Amino acid sequence: MAKSVGVTLSEQVHTGLVVNHKLVGELRQFPEDPEDFGALVEMPTDALVKTICEQVFAATNGEKGIEAVGVAVPGLVKGGVVEEAPNLAQLKGARLQEMIGVQLKEHRIEAPVTILNDADGVAAGLAARHGKLDSMIRVWTIGMGIGYGRYPFTPGTWEGGHTVVTLDEKETFCGCGGRGHVEGIMGHRAMRLRFLDMEPEEVFEAAKKGDARCLEFKRFYHKALAAATATSIHMAGPGKFFLTGVYVGNVDMRMLKDYMQQMVKMSPLQSYSLEIVEESPEVRVIGSAVSAEQAAGI
Ligand SMILES: [Zn+2]
Repeated sequence: MAKSVGVTLSEQVHTGLVVNHKLVGELRQFPEDPEDFGALVEMPTDALVKTICEQVFAATNGEKGIEAVGVAVPGLVKGGVVEEAPNLAQLKGARLQEMIGVQLKEHRIEAPVTILNDADGVAAGLAARHGKLDSMIRVWTIGMGIGYGRYPFTPGTWEGGHTVVTLDEKETFCGCGGRGHVEGIMGHRAMRLRFLDMEPEEVFEAAKKGDARCLEFKRFYHKALAAATATSIHMAGPGKFFLTGVYVGNVDMRMLKDYMQQMVKMSPLQSYSLEIVEESPEVRVIGSAVSAEQAAGI
């Protein structure tokens, strides 16, 4: 019986005890009040680590024998170190695995700690929920930025949200500063920069009503997602792609599939499938825990 704790960091710290890939007890949230959601960004790394460890300890609810602890971070993670985290900038360079491991011992939790990218956590959580823990799945998380997650974990960089999908020199809206990236087209922040006079939701509404500029952008948006997905298929093979995230409602599946058919022509690569799914903090927390269990060899 695998028993572990999953943690995710975003505007909130979500924490839960996961037994046999299912959440047991309550999903903990810190801070609880949406008005305090900015607090984590302001919190120094030491204080954030202390908070995470307190949440993990509380989530165990006195249970002994925790076998793994997984912490999902929005950023680039390598060997337990956060190399880049644009939305929690204080974590850049933090040896998070070591820091959390040391403090958890003070709470008498000796389990190995795994730090993972949050989109990989979503992928693992969706694999657990959809009974696909034995196959490869990929996920696009469509939010402020564009996340790309893979399950099972494979060492690598996997910054799929920064896949280059256009050679147009004017495409410079990606938060990373790189030219022609999928996030520079599909990211919510990038869309705001492109349409200074309209909210992204209004752009998709206007496209429905036939506004030429908005319809042109809607096509561009779907070509970008199709191109990034097609590139992943050409590099790693066909398989299941889940689409999720706060703004996944902008995706028009018919339009996406149409562009995919134009971009993936080799017959051995045709067996891919695309599916829009809901995800939630619960899915993410389970994914963090499952990833940590696998890293610990459970
Ligand atoms: Zn980029």
